[in-house]
Amino acid sequence: MMDLQDLYQELILDHNKRPRNRRKLEQADGQCDGYNPLCGDRVTVFVKVNGDVVEDVSFEGSGCAISTASASLMTECIKGMSVSEAKAMFERFHEMVTGESGAASQGGSLGKLEVFSGVSRYPARVKCATLVWHTLRGALADDANPVTTE
Ligand code: ZN
Repeated sequence: MMDLQDLYQELILDHNKRPRNRRKLEQADGQCDGYNPLCGDRVTVFVKVNGDVVEDVSFEGSGCAISTASASLMTECIKGMSVSEAKAMFERFHEMVTGESGAASQGGSLGKLEVFSGVSRYPARVKCATLVWHTLRGALADDANPVTTE
């Protein structure tokens, strides 16, 4: 049996303990609810978009350490990016945690998000890590339909 310890690296533990941008965003341009029934993670993502730039992004919700840290790091990462950059980042992140390397992965570094690379070895945890990203995509589209990972 593999030790989960290396999955819960310091950065993940820190973001789980003190999540960044965990608040409701007033006057959000888009929001979406996400649910991962496999683990019970729930998240709501709020975005404020100015032109093509993600001016602000935040989240609310509760879930496991991986989903909370992923949400916290996602908000830090994409704030200030263009909408298309944020979507490209999701593609690369998704490829990293699912262990698939496609054409989109040639687009550059994931920075801090690389802390989740170990998740690819734990298939049950992949949905915890990607939930907030799927929900972000819904929020950018201001999708009233909740996102689930199933
Ligand atoms: Zn989870």
